[in-house]
Amino acid sequence: MPIRATKRGDARTPLSGEFDVLVCGASFAGLAVARELAGSDARVLVIDRYEIGERQTSACAAPTGWLEALGLTNAMRQTFGELVVHTPHITTRMDLPFTFSTFDYQELCELLWHQSDADFETAKVNGRTGHTVHTDRGDLTAPLVVDALGWRRMLAGDDGFQPPDAPLSRGLEVHPWGASDKLEIWIDRGYVPAGYGWSFPATDEVRVGVGSFDPRYHVKDSTVRLAADLDRDAVRYQGNWIPHRLRPATAGGVFFAGDSAGHCLPLTAEGIRTAFYFGIACGRELRSVLEGGKSRSDALRDYGSFSDSHRWKFEWLLRTQRAVPRVPPRLLALALRGMSTDRFVRWSFSHYLSIAPAEFAHAGGPRPLPRVEMPAAA
Ligand SMILES: Cc1cc2nc3c(=O)[nH]c(=O)nc-3n(C[C@H](O)[C@H](O)[C@H](O)COP(=O)(O)OP(=O)(O)OC[C@H]3O[C@@H](n4cnc5c(N)ncnc54)[C@H](O)[C@@H]3O)c2cc1C
Repeated sequence: MPIRATKRGDARTPLSGEFDVLVCGASFAGLAVARELAGSDARVLVIDRYEIGERQTSACAAPTGWLEALGLTNAMRQTFGELVVHTPHITTRMDLPFTFSTFDYQELCELLWHQSDADFETAKVNGRTGHTVHTDRGDLTAPLVVDALGWRRMLAGDDGFQPPDAPLSRGLEVHPWGASDKLEIWIDRGYVPAGYGWSFPATDEVRVGVGSFDPRYHVKDSTVRLAADLDRDAVRYQGNWIPHRLRPATAGGVFFAGDSAGHCLPLTAEGIRTAFYFGIACGRELRSVLEGGKSRSDALRDYGSFSDSHRWKFEWLLRTQRAVPRVPPRLLALALRGMSTDRFVRWSFSHYLSIAPAEFAHAGGPRPLPRVEMPAAA
């Protein structure tokens, strides 16, 4: 049984108040927003139903450059310069033009959090009226509200986004102890008709999972089978819905960042670096309001158009996501062989990385230093 750190019972005291910024959700997107507001003198409150870093939400692999740019390398577990792609007919090894690293979720969240100077409370968000967010501990009000709550997009005020009819993929993984030196994916209809399987090692555990682009296709049996085929135990499950379509990044006066805005990339389901990227962009807009350079409505407009300016790239990936499952397996093997040349891999992966490049983390000029040192690991 996981140990629940989140305050329960008597420890869950009433909570209310007015703030300058209320960031709902303390995972990749929410913490990136808060980090961008460090040193602003504003009253910033971050809330989440769990303690920071308590609930891992992904296989936790991201481009190393992003982890370096955000000062998160201490959370890194393993780094890979090669991606191994298996299909029923061929296995190819792609030499990537940049590396991916797996990391420890809790450590990464704590490192990010220690770069912000916001306050944090555990509270479950139930909804919103205007600029007041209703939580299980009370009402919180702020002129600047961020929904970084993930795919549910809770603060949009519409409820037209429920699986299986919404543009959501399904992901499930197990975390057996073990080791490997390969970052691997499987494009194999034997596991999932539309989607892929993965094995992402992180020093002493391997994150093995299956994602389906079709939300109606259940992936538990496939995940168990992939784990068995790799001689891994199907233990320590974690899964979630993964949005694969960009949504408006502002609505009803609220800023949306990360999965709540559909910022996870279609085809690859890579949503961590984009949560950082759009979280930082959102934080910069909020900061310009706090510093008096912009009105709230201008910041909403500018952040919305910034997110929208990426739409064609997301749509392009979505079209590819829809096309790949229709390619006959033998043709796919041939295509993959053609695409594994160093030149093509360098070209395609560099374009892919440039959708949300790590340099963006530095683009805002000098940042304030983190307020405190990371506590020594327990
Ligand atoms: C199985 C799986 C594996 C994945 N692997 C990868 C990977 O290796 N690399 C990658 O780049 N992407 C991966 N992804 C996608 C990635 O996890 C998401 O895109 C990313 O987590 C989005 O970050 P976020 O901060 O927007 O939302 P989330 O990480 O979903 O965080 C939302 C936060 O809001 C909180 N919250 C939700 N509802 C409430 C509420 N009502 N009240 C209070 N708090 C609430 C949650 O506790 C959570 O802390 C994976 C996804 C899945 C499902």
